[in-house]
Amino acid sequence: MAETTNNGEIDLLLGRMKSATAPLRGTLQELHARFAPLTEGKVADYIPELAKADPNWFGISIITTDGQVFEVGDCKHSFTIQSISKPFVYGLALEELGLEPVMARVGVEPTGEAFNSIVLDEVSNRPFNPMVNAGAIATSDLIGGKDFPERVTRMISMFGRYCGRPVHIDNSVFLSERMTGHRNRAIAHLMLNFGIVSPRLDEALELYFQQCSVLVTAHDLAMMAATLANGGVNPVTGERAIPQKYVKYLLSIMHSCGMYDYAGEWAFRVGIPAKSGVGGGILAVVPGVLGIGIFSPPLDAKGNSVRGVHVCRELSEQFGLHSFESGFAGSSIKNQFSAQRAPR
Ligand code: GLU
Repeated sequence: MAETTNNGEIDLLLGRMKSATAPLRGTLQELHARFAPLTEGKVADYIPELAKADPNWFGISIITTDGQVFEVGDCKHSFTIQSISKPFVYGLALEELGLEPVMARVGVEPTGEAFNSIVLDEVSNRPFNPMVNAGAIATSDLIGGKDFPERVTRMISMFGRYCGRPVHIDNSVFLSERMTGHRNRAIAHLMLNFGIVSPRLDEALELYFQQCSVLVTAHDLAMMAATLANGGVNPVTGERAIPQKYVKYLLSIMHSCGMYDYAGEWAFRVGIPAKSGVGGGILAVVPGVLGIGIFSPPLDAKGNSVRGVHVCRELSEQFGLHSFESGFAGSSIKNQFSAQRAPR
């Protein structure tokens, strides 16, 4: 477990919490030990490369908005980001085009449909939101650049800004996605029929397969989440990853649509914006305070990491992280807390 410099500081950052009785470092060790033996869930195998994951891999990373790191387990192990890429590429599209042009192509309504369903809004013909595959492919289509390599570079360097290091694509997973991605092609062609995506359809799909194949670690996910928690600025490098005015849109869409068909119950029980992916990652954001990254490949029936959901539910409960936790003063005034005034 990585050491933090100042455990009092996290208590301060989490000023609204019950955490005075549950120090973060010890809590992470306890949660890792408690949930590591779980055998529920199944590693995704619909993309052959993903089936190679070891169900025992398990890492939990938390990074605060002032860059403190709390980690336990396999936090340096690389895996593919998969659908966790979706809010970030959406953010890039917002940055490049602005809100209304993006809204004209992709809605923001939750859908009870599966993430890969071949369904569009019957009135607008738009995908329902950018967290389902249709919306993500339409979003990828919006990423600009003079040619395909430049579009890929923009997308990859955007992830690099969030992670605070250059990122790379797992070529085997990318090829596996591409080989098996017929359903995504069907979705893209339906959208082309309605003029929702441009005729550069093949590029949009390639971009989408590539974004899903970006290699990250649990530490990276926590850093990406901490960057969003920090208003779009990476707390360690100080580099801005996205203009601040768009951060709220990413968090909103993660809050309502980020956890597949568990999104409603997640918002109800855990209450923080999050996104998961079939590689076993979960990224969750406590705005103004910290980012959480979890990696554990076995998925539940809804497609979320079994251990990841358990850990987030516990963290939310123990530290009072739910957005609507009674007494939560809101991130914008967290700086008003002092060590003396922090609730005990
Ligand atoms: N590459 C995946 C697909 O399109 C993304 C799945 C996910 O993580 O939800 O099937």
